[in-house]
Amino acid sequence: MALRTLDSLGPLAGKTVGVRLDLNVPLDGETITDDGRIRAALPTLAALAEKGAKMVVWSHLGRPDGAPDPRYSVKPVAARLTELWPHNVVFVDHTSGAAITDATAVLAPGDVLLAENLRFDPRETSKDPTERAAFAAELAANVDAFVSDGFGVVHRAQASVVELAEAVPSASGPLIAAELDVLTRLTADPARPYTVVLGGSKVSDKLGVIDALLPVVDRLVIGGGMVFTVLAAQGHQVGSSLLEADQIDIVKGYLADAKQRGVEVILPTDIVMAESFSADAPSVVLPIDSLETGPAGASALGLDIGPESDEAFRRVIAASATVFWNGPMGVFEFEAFSHGTRAVAQGLTEMRGLSVVGGGDSAAAVRRLGFADEQFGHISTGGGASLEFLEGKALPGLEAVGWP
Ligand code: ADP
Ligand code: MG
Repeated sequence: MALRTLDSLGPLAGKTVGVRLDLNVPLDGETITDDGRIRAALPTLAALAEKGAKMVVWSHLGRPDGAPDPRYSVKPVAARLTELWPHNVVFVDHTSGAAITDATAVLAPGDVLLAENLRFDPRETSKDPTERAAFAAELAANVDAFVSDGFGVVHRAQASVVELAEAVPSASGPLIAAELDVLTRLTADPARPYTVVLGGSKVSDKLGVIDALLPVVDRLVIGGGMVFTVLAAQGHQVGSSLLEADQIDIVKGYLADAKQRGVEVILPTDIVMAESFSADAPSVVLPIDSLETGPAGASALGLDIGPESDEAFRRVIAASATVFWNGPMGVFEFEAFSHGTRAVAQGLTEMRGLSVVGGGDSAAAVRRLGFADEQFGHISTGGGASLEFLEGKALPGLEAVGWP
């Protein structure tokens, strides 16, 4: 089989097409702090508008507990989409049922109905495929066809990602095609040296990828919250930094494997240790073998890599021919702890070859730090999804639309 694209759906003029997008944008209250995922979805909507379709768009936002929660409403997304999209945008605070049917009836070709957060319904992420199928059937009832283009969620077996694609004629959209195009280049014979840079806060999610990447990469650069589990595995004290103590032995195994394979694991040599988790927390830069020797002692938190590491990371990255980067090096949302992330981004802009940034927060970070999208080879809208792709895992949301 091959990835099914829009053309496989036949003529769509006057039809109602359901579209799964990843519009999970970072919010500060009701203010969108990075609209990259909304802008990345515009070509998908444009391709469908071009075919004369009306669109019912679904997304998730944040992690509500399977129940409506105004903090995670997609309403702010509708407001931003209204500014960016030349046709009408209608927000409906339901995901299925008569409210969607009625609102769809008055749409014109090119118009977009944005439905409320899918994760307000517990069946969206249910572990039980029958529950997911029931939810998908409700979603499917309002559309003639379905386009899956939420690349950031294709690694999840969720109702709107898998079962919905099975319930009506379905295809992938242009965003998934563009993502696969770049990621395939990373797996098939990447130019060397090939460096993968990992950071961020989803520690247990990301530690596992090290194992899968070791046979493939030349260098592994690690920072962010996950680095403290690695430093702990090397016998360092890490104060009150993010730590997954139960992963330490596993990480020791990875380090031994890396050594055996000749993969260079590049870790920070200094860390910015803060007294608390806040923008203006007092902090000191300490070498990795004495992270608990600052004024806050063992209660200090490592919130960024230190300046010596910034420079070392930037150089290694700049001297690579292929780089994939997922996960900020520190709590970049606070200016004081954004230097490591900036240095890594800088390194990617200096290198010659293919540079790929993956992950919602990583993408938001580079824009927030003042870099332009064009300075990178590709900015992926999916962190977990792109990592799992690079690991060679089967992605249920891609299989549902014919890949591979
Ligand atoms: P992505 O969305 O790019 O995949 P993650 O979601 O894994 O990245 O991680 C992003 C988050 O990691 C950011 O909100 C950042 O503040 C946080 N982070 C990075 N370094 C640290 C650290 N040392 N301690 C705590 N949080 C961190
Ligand atoms: Mg994230």
